[in-house]
Amino acid sequence: MGIAPWLVFAVLLTALIVAVVLATPWDPLAGASPPSADPGRDFSAAELAELDAHQARIRPPTYTGLAVGLAVTVLLGMTPLGARLVTAAARPLGGGWVWQVLLGGLAVLLVIRLATIGFSAWAEAVRRAAGLSTRSWLGWAADLAKSFGLQAAATLVALLAMIALARALPRSWWAFGAVAAGAAVVALAFAYPLIVEPVFNRFTPLPPGELRTSLLRMADRSGVPVDEILEADASKRTSTLNAYVSGLSATRRIVVFDTLTDRSPPAQVRSVVAHELGHAAEQDVRDGALLGALGAAAAVCLLGGLLRMPALLDRSGASGPDDPRIIALVLAVVAVAGLVSSPAQALVSRRVEARADVHALDVTADPQAFAEMQRSLVLAAKADPEPPAILFGLFASHPTGPQRIAMARAWADRQSADPVDDLAPVGGSAG
Ligand SMILES: [Zn+2]
Repeated sequence: MGIAPWLVFAVLLTALIVAVVLATPWDPLAGASPPSADPGRDFSAAELAELDAHQARIRPPTYTGLAVGLAVTVLLGMTPLGARLVTAAARPLGGGWVWQVLLGGLAVLLVIRLATIGFSAWAEAVRRAAGLSTRSWLGWAADLAKSFGLQAAATLVALLAMIALARALPRSWWAFGAVAAGAAVVALAFAYPLIVEPVFNRFTPLPPGELRTSLLRMADRSGVPVDEILEADASKRTSTLNAYVSGLSATRRIVVFDTLTDRSPPAQVRSVVAHELGHAAEQDVRDGALLGALGAAAAVCLLGGLLRMPALLDRSGASGPDDPRIIALVLAVVAVAGLVSSPAQALVSRRVEARADVHALDVTADPQAFAEMQRSLVLAAKADPEPPAILFGLFASHPTGPQRIAMARAWADRQSADPVDDLAPVGGSAG
């Protein structure tokens, strides 16, 4: 029995790798020569210098914060500190196992959050100074509290379910847990637009008009007829431009930031929405949820194997998966597994994003507007047009702006369409 979780873990991991390899659009431009990026063609030297300077300011808080968060999580999980925290937090309420999970888990999550809150504030200060964040410090604190609350609620429910299962079924809890975790991922993808998004933003249907009509027509052409395009009041928080698709079947929605509709020319808004329609047409949210479900199930089996290893249990000061003192170790395993898998997740995401870009180009047949939009997205977010390979490989969910513009050029070339102009402003003024 001791080897069963490892066997199922190996099977699920193999299934996940095979599914990812088969489902990922490795070659979205179908054989057209891989585009090479050339930031100097579309950004002036002054713009590139400004983007560089912003990166030099935002990277230290961002990545130090990530590293400190991970270090604290591992420290709590791999030493008896986490176990002691759980016991101490639950003591005032009698210390029963449910209280240990809820209060102890909350205490562990709070310690991790507080360890990195200084870095979050530092990053916010940089974004405010750069004009990227438009919220007040009170708004920042409220956002932080809301996301911590949602995250903590979801984590505590998962921990409570895991430990209750382990108490009821000491030998096979991980098998039922794996099924439950997979189902929870799919349920969350479905419910996300209903329970998470409204906590942060208000959504209103895009008002009738030329833009809305053209977007809905484009949705028809994409094979994903929608009734509405929703506009989010993102401007209360950020000056960056964005849009996204979320939800599954009945909850599926296409959302544009009001910053985008307010500031970008209609052709560029169409380009962004066409990209999102590409995600909808290719069922990227559904496929992502199914792959995520496989990954979550595999992670529970990994826990099933690890949490019975005496060496790990001794280190963490817990007796087994039915002991709430295990919480910090569970969080540490999940954090490390997330970090280890992030290069693969980012790689797959970039190919999926490139496919949505090709869809946008196919549907709009306007590579010039697409390229101009990509340029605006980079400038509005002060994004890094040429990130260091290690950061790009670990964290970049999208191709870089210059890579996406190069893709538009390759697309135009393949279609024998008019070539995309060089976009760098003459004389270095920011456009
Ligand atoms: Zn996308």
